[in-house]
Amino acid sequence: MGEWKKSGCILCAQNCGLELEIENNRIVKVRGDKDNPRSLGYCCQKGLKIAHYAHNGDRLYYPLKKAGDRHVRISWEQAIGEISEKLLSIKEDHGPKSFAYVGGGNVGGQMEVGIGLRLLGLLGSRYYYSSLAQEFSNVFWVDGRVAGKQGLTSVSDAHGADTLVAWGWNGWMSHQEPRTRLLIKEFAENPRKKLLVIDPRLSETAKFADLHLALRPGSDTLLLKAIIRIILEQEWEDKKYLEDHVSGWEEVAQLFSGFEAKRAVEEVCGLNYEDVVETARLIAQTKSCIHQDLGIYMNRNSTLNNYLLHILRAVTGRLAVEGGQIFPAFLYPMGSDSDERHPKTWRTVKHKMFPVLGVFPPAILPDEILHDHPERIRALIVSACNPLRSWPDTLAYEKAFQALELSVCIDIAYTETARLSDYVLPSLSYLESYDTTCFNYSYPEFYFQMRQPVLEPLSPEAKEGSAIILELIKAMGFLPELPDRLYGAGQQGLTSYLGAINAYFLENPQHAKLAPLILAETLGKALGSVNQALIAGLLINSSKGFKAGAAAIGYPPDITMAEKMYQDIVGHPQGLILARFQGDNFQMLHTPDKKLALSIEELFEPLQAATIDKERAELELPEHYPLILHAGLHHETVANTMLRNPQWNGSRRWATMLMHEADAGNLGLTDGDKAEITTKASTALIEVEISPHAARGCVYIRHGGGLVYEGSKYGVNVNELVQSTDRDEMCTPMHRRIPCRVEAVGE
Ligand code: SF4
Repeated sequence: MGEWKKSGCILCAQNCGLELEIENNRIVKVRGDKDNPRSLGYCCQKGLKIAHYAHNGDRLYYPLKKAGDRHVRISWEQAIGEISEKLLSIKEDHGPKSFAYVGGGNVGGQMEVGIGLRLLGLLGSRYYYSSLAQEFSNVFWVDGRVAGKQGLTSVSDAHGADTLVAWGWNGWMSHQEPRTRLLIKEFAENPRKKLLVIDPRLSETAKFADLHLALRPGSDTLLLKAIIRIILEQEWEDKKYLEDHVSGWEEVAQLFSGFEAKRAVEEVCGLNYEDVVETARLIAQTKSCIHQDLGIYMNRNSTLNNYLLHILRAVTGRLAVEGGQIFPAFLYPMGSDSDERHPKTWRTVKHKMFPVLGVFPPAILPDEILHDHPERIRALIVSACNPLRSWPDTLAYEKAFQALELSVCIDIAYTETARLSDYVLPSLSYLESYDTTCFNYSYPEFYFQMRQPVLEPLSPEAKEGSAIILELIKAMGFLPELPDRLYGAGQQGLTSYLGAINAYFLENPQHAKLAPLILAETLGKALGSVNQALIAGLLINSSKGFKAGAAAIGYPPDITMAEKMYQDIVGHPQGLILARFQGDNFQMLHTPDKKLALSIEELFEPLQAATIDKERAELELPEHYPLILHAGLHHETVANTMLRNPQWNGSRRWATMLMHEADAGNLGLTDGDKAEITTKASTALIEVEISPHAARGCVYIRHGGGLVYEGSKYGVNVNELVQSTDRDEMCTPMHRRIPCRVEAVGE
């Protein structure tokens, strides 16, 4: 009989609460944690398989260094010494732009980013790449404009809605709402609630829908314009909301005048006009919430469509309101403000691309490494991320890694990225360490969970990712010598530490800019964990709004607040409500008048240019690539690249390509046949699965395939089929629209 311990799932951004039964330092049973205030005992079958994350044959035990075509064991001292020396010499020879940091791409924990970004800054670089810019740059950019500042990212608040619109979102498989399957079932079963699904295919979610609009793939822009136009024609707009909470509405409204909604819907979207009118009515006249996903984010016109979605929400009074789309409360923002209009915002050397939310897009990183400019990227530290499988154009990434002068991979497993790196450094798993994420997604209450170690480290040599990067920083001489009293103060509690560090900075104001690192070093030593120290630091330095929210639920509004909160966090491994933000959701906005800034002038021209005729022409596919590959289908059999042992899926089919029966029949293919799929990037051989969930003209391959587990490759790596040039103006890869052809393979 083992011991049950409280933890959280690290496989998707819902981070459901889990209880794990541990026996002999192994997970033997898993169940949803009913005490978790957000997931309330819910978890999906992926979470139940989390043991495969902790215990697998690819785990790393000690630092490795590349020697020829293999890796050999080295000591930490050698690893830290050689890497730090090389980093400094590359910077000395080629300047700060030669270094990039890849991190924070993991949905399980993000404290490592706090130190990774400091390392970047100390080396003088701003080239931070993360998976956030793989899917979300477009929406984050639009959010930033509408909310007045990047860093405020909006999310749907579906549990409080009466009409839920799933637009390009297959929640049944991809989750993204607390307790998603229960939510979908509730909408399906409650006659007062309506579930509308807008998706070219009959997804698992669409099967529950009151109304399924199976639009022509890629015609979302015209459908959005049509819905907004219908609402205005019918005078269903929320005039009071527009007057009270929106600036720029008059000029935005003009953009829809004269648009032929019926013609667009029937001739291009391929939908019944009456169904679209009913959709518009439900969005406008009920408490509606639109949840969009990759069908919007990684498809054509993503920036424009995200803008149109916000216009639709604003016109119906559903933006920044409970049960609609909210700007969640946060302890720390998902990223920084890096508005490209600011002259100091960095751009990349080759593509002159700007970051969004401080993050540069993965799709262009290979190009930024492979060109011959003296300031090209030459050194890369990758932490808790697997670009060689998770990011587009694997073949380009393979070449790029060969061209680096220094590559370092920090991970728990010998991933595909680790295999190509010069140095591989073992980190603690998320179940062996303290960590948290920024996926809190609620307003006005702020939910927080610090996951605590439930397993002893598999290897005594593994360390927190943040601690590893801190060691590099120290080895490069960036930290001053620190007094013993700072190390000692942390032992007396946070309030005492706060007094000591304040006194230290009064005496040493020149070191104030190193505060997070000094805290990580000194408080980290006292707590035995850099991640814990960083979380404590976030509480100490939280915003005025956050502190007011914490005071509102009873935390003392004085110097002891952080310590009291911290004690509660430690005492509630299941998670807790830490603050209740004051005022309505518009208080979160950074616009001077606290109104939504709906007028984004750069998008006026593309919005007007998206005419029926132009869109129809652009939707045509090239003759030699007549099908659309959806690269990276969300499915219950895939979990990014974190579950590496293919046995986690048992006997379930997961390495297949989904096809519509009619498309397969035209090609002489039947279920289980092998077929060849070809894109501009490459060709792959894959098993065909005839599926009722596939739309005509489209094929679907799950993400997370092609992992090399214990030396053998399993499944097709869909990112080998994507070229980095298959991207939009924000450099978001168009994974939902990769032109391809499929051919039967002879016996
Ligand atoms: S993968 Fe499943 S259990 Fe894990 S966080 Fe997501 S929804 Fe919850």
